[in-house]
Amino acid sequence: MKEYTEFIIEIRELAKSKDISGLLQQSENAEDKRPCLFAAVCKAAEKGLGQVPFDEQLMAAKALTEGKIIEMPTGEGKTLAAVFAAVWHKYEGRKTHILTFNDYLAKRDREWMKPVYDLLEVSTACVTEKTPFEERKAAYKADVLYVSARECCFDYLRDFTAQSLDGAVGQGFSAAIVDEADSLLIDEARIPLVAASDIKVQQDPELNKAMELTAAFDENDYDISLEAESIYLSDEGASKAEAFFGLENLYSEENAELLSKINDSLKARFLLQENKDYINRDGRIMLIDKFTGRAAENRHYPGTLQTAVELKHGLEATTRGVIMGSIALQYFAREYPFLSAMTGTAKASEEEFYTLYDLRLEIIPPHLPSIRTDHETEIYYDTKSKQKAIVKAVCAAHEKGQPVLVGTGSIEDSEILYRLLKEQGIEAAVLNAKNDDREAEIISEAGAPYAVTISTNMAGRGVDIRLGGADESKREEAAKAGGLLVISTYMPESSRMVKQLIGRSGRQGDPGESMCFVALDEPIMDKYKLRSLVPARHYPEPTEAAVDDRVLRREVERIQRISEGDAFDARARLLKYTLIGEKHRDQVFETRRKFLDGAAVGMWKNSDRYEEAAKRFGEDKLEKLERRTAAAAINRFWSEYLEYTDYLRQGIHLTAVAGKSPAEEYNIAAEEYYLGMESELSEYMEERLQDLLEQGEENYIIEVPENIRTYLLEDNGDELNKQPFLINFLSDESEAELEEAERRSVLDAPEENGDEPKKGFFGKLFGKKK
Ligand code: ADP
Repeated sequence: MKEYTEFIIEIRELAKSKDISGLLQQSENAEDKRPCLFAAVCKAAEKGLGQVPFDEQLMAAKALTEGKIIEMPTGEGKTLAAVFAAVWHKYEGRKTHILTFNDYLAKRDREWMKPVYDLLEVSTACVTEKTPFEERKAAYKADVLYVSARECCFDYLRDFTAQSLDGAVGQGFSAAIVDEADSLLIDEARIPLVAASDIKVQQDPELNKAMELTAAFDENDYDISLEAESIYLSDEGASKAEAFFGLENLYSEENAELLSKINDSLKARFLLQENKDYINRDGRIMLIDKFTGRAAENRHYPGTLQTAVELKHGLEATTRGVIMGSIALQYFAREYPFLSAMTGTAKASEEEFYTLYDLRLEIIPPHLPSIRTDHETEIYYDTKSKQKAIVKAVCAAHEKGQPVLVGTGSIEDSEILYRLLKEQGIEAAVLNAKNDDREAEIISEAGAPYAVTISTNMAGRGVDIRLGGADESKREEAAKAGGLLVISTYMPESSRMVKQLIGRSGRQGDPGESMCFVALDEPIMDKYKLRSLVPARHYPEPTEAAVDDRVLRREVERIQRISEGDAFDARARLLKYTLIGEKHRDQVFETRRKFLDGAAVGMWKNSDRYEEAAKRFGEDKLEKLERRTAAAAINRFWSEYLEYTDYLRQGIHLTAVAGKSPAEEYNIAAEEYYLGMESELSEYMEERLQDLLEQGEENYIIEVPENIRTYLLEDNGDELNKQPFLINFLSDESEAELEEAERRSVLDAPEENGDEPKKGFFGKLFGKKK
């Protein structure tokens, strides 16, 4: 606190001493630019917004410049606090991305804060889903960019498919301030964001022949291990193949590629089953997720296996929707060399923010102390009686004009409560995150007298609820009725969700009230086995009334803590196990960018036919062609890598059954594939140079990804993303075993015998990141 006091006094003194430009000038020579800059921001806020920043906002601003996550209750003014840090970043030579929860907030916050930035000569911009390309590109050049985390992520992925630097926005990582960090960095952190496109499928005569061969096979020609989901040629089958292709030895090295195609065709014909492993929808083969049982869009078997399945069904695909790149927010945020974050509720996830993002927590006290009344959680035997009690509480509050905000866990629950309230003559506004702009408007009115608003967790995030309505015109009336009553209607996996909701009430020292209801038949109680935790004599008989039992209450609270711990463990472990893919992606993305900006050309220079080609096409033209060829090739190879690793993860649990460490197996396989891909790329580039020489420039075709689209892979069926499953098989392994597996994995292979660590093409060019 003392360091803050001195810091704040210094700022206030400076603000009195000079005008804005004087302060900006003075900051230039200062070792610590913050006092002068912060004083300048204070003056600009006063001039531009008519607001004098509170001490608490200065504290928050300081913590943000120290790369921390700040917890600051809703309505305390985080939007303005972030401006201080962003301005400081600019004068320290960094660009800032303020990553918001949605487009609406990006737009609102940028417009709102623009007058302050303008006075400080800091350029700002905002990008939303609707921003056209040229404008978007210009926006990324601004000192401070307000953009939803999702859109910024999509821009990063789209840049990876750009054909030239002109076609890229130049997203780039410098400094980021993540708003609503609990949602973005924890709750939604693992959902992969994806860019997909259509690519042309090349015909493969060898595969066609392999399919022809296996069409005539009977069960003596192959062996199946159903348990391991594998299939291979029997001796009879191998002899048939050798005769068919006129080979001496199918298993010799030069036939490896053919053998793998024969295996794929075996798999397609005799192992994979329609409607169990995949479906054939309108002539498109789509994988069925083993766990959800649903067909997955844009997911394929790796390499020729997909084509083999198509051929089995007599389909001849010419284009295929493939994933070009994907990244989850968890990794995206970690790419920023300077990261800080803000949220209304971080305490419950303090360890997680630190472990996963290296963000230390700073709790900023409210400007005015809270006078909200928080009632003890009411426990009900079942959902029905819980709903009755909730409706009763809403009615009682509504009668005296008290505004009520009800938080539910799902759209379905929202609708049930809406109906129940309607039966009592109460017309509630229902929000469920379908339309950000409209929701912002509704939720800003949720504090008006007699207002009843039902909201799912995500709805209306980041929007302030003022007592008495958005213009606070009926503030007195709403305050007299008790202020905003917030009702939590279920137990979420994290107590943070409840705190988030409750924090909507009692804003800036306002009166307010909160109530929490839970039922013993909620899924979470089952999932974490409440019944086995509570001694039988403390578990209630069916009843409609609230249950009050000390032991029961203690165990219900314990469930919350167990679920929090579980989710965290899974996320932390996941991070370890998927890091290899992240490293590969970093290298590949960077390499591709270097090709676009010309820093990495030269693959063709090593070719024997370079001189000939240079003479014929000219060095400049040749370099351009090489760049475009390499960029397109990297896209193709990377998308194949994604198919392969996706497939690998689908099967990884089988390895676990066999008693090996799935993470280790996965890492080894992914790394091998990656290194193989690097050498394949060199070979491929050499082939393309030959093509160019043979076909001439006019007939030389570079296939580029078309029809780029972005989306969230919410239900991605990824093995490593299946929490309960992961926990099951990991819990049998001791930590020591895990560490050993990690140590041995090729990912961070120790430099044995003083040899250089193994690095491939991508690695050689740019080395390891961080
Ligand atoms: P948060 O993002 O922390 O929930 P906001 O940034 O939305 O909070 O600010 C909440 C409200 O407080 C806004 O109406 C804003 O105008 C007001 N506010 C913020 N800082 C100040 C200040 N220093 N003086 C007066 N009002 C302020």
